[in-house]
Amino acid sequence: MSSERIWVGTPFILNFEDQRQFFIPLEDQGHEVIIDDCPAYLSEDELVEKIKNATAVIAGAEPYTNKVMEKTSNLKIIARAGVGVNNIDIPSATKNNIVVTNAEGQNSSSVSEHFFGLLINCTRRIHWMNENIRKGAWREIQPALVPLKDQTLGIIGFGNIGKLVAKRAKAFEMNVIAYDIIQDQEAAERIGVKFVSLDELAKESDFVTCHVPLTPDTKHIVNKELLEKMKPEAFVFNTSRGPVFNLDEVTEALKNNTIQGAGIDVYPEEPPDYSHPIFTMENAVLTPHMGGRGIDAVRNTINHAVTCVDDFLKGKKPSTVINKDLYDN
Ligand code: NAD
Repeated sequence: MSSERIWVGTPFILNFEDQRQFFIPLEDQGHEVIIDDCPAYLSEDELVEKIKNATAVIAGAEPYTNKVMEKTSNLKIIARAGVGVNNIDIPSATKNNIVVTNAEGQNSSSVSEHFFGLLINCTRRIHWMNENIRKGAWREIQPALVPLKDQTLGIIGFGNIGKLVAKRAKAFEMNVIAYDIIQDQEAAERIGVKFVSLDELAKESDFVTCHVPLTPDTKHIVNKELLEKMKPEAFVFNTSRGPVFNLDEVTEALKNNTIQGAGIDVYPEEPPDYSHPIFTMENAVLTPHMGGRGIDAVRNTINHAVTCVDDFLKGKKPSTVINKDLYDN
């Protein structure tokens, strides 16, 4: 068996003391694994330089654009240690005979828990009270805290993460409705979720949360038009991908009190433009794209990516191929 070079570009692996533990299955086969202490965001040219001799990459958020793939002729597989593949030009990968895999379902629990972190932080105003008590403020201002019980949660995107969010919402005795282009009726019945149109979801929900991939159809799915249909007490959440929200229009709605609050983990560009007015909004709770960073999720996604690369290099089809045409044709 030939020895191949595998580049690992996921800086979150650096959280682990023993990073090499994940790559034993590949190193045991005689492959060379390069764990790169690279920044989270690389330019196309920097990426080409790093991966030009690699057969496989275990990918984070780096830009696998057409330009990058045209210049990396050794590359045969990109295994994303995550779910979203919007940083990879899939048609170009297919054209260049590069297999793309993701880690479907491997970080769903982490993202669903992160959503509840944002939700409860908004409704119980925890971040705000935490700041005030440290300044010596003991109930000088007593905000009315918002309950979850008997409130309606609207889920846009009832996939792996959306379903776990729904299950957890049921434990809080919430009503759950969902909008998806593919309706998994079996799961909806089992969890107790009603499918509705996007319009109905906007009108009926007290909380709207997005769990869709970024596609041309989901870009700006939460926009002025949809926000205007929502209750003024509604809160909106985005732990999917930044452009799913029209952030300017969400910020405007927060300013005008068209909605009550927002919880946001993902931004139109990352790292974001910190001069954006969202960073001045008191009624928004913001985190830096950490939804999938539960320690369980990091382990699962890396292990899954390693298995995909291992299978591929042994001539087997990895379990979560995105560009299936490469195998079908
Ligand atoms: P999934 O593929 O299991 O579910 C996505 C769901 O969205 C599917 O049911 C699909 O039918 C639905 N959908 C697609 N297009 C739609 C449209 N136009 N309108 C309505 N529904 C539509 O994916 P998942 O694992 O649940 O993850 C969802 C997204 O969350 C990922 O694509 C990724 O971008 C994001 N994510 C973010 C983090 C984070 O760290 N914040 C971590 C993991 C995933």
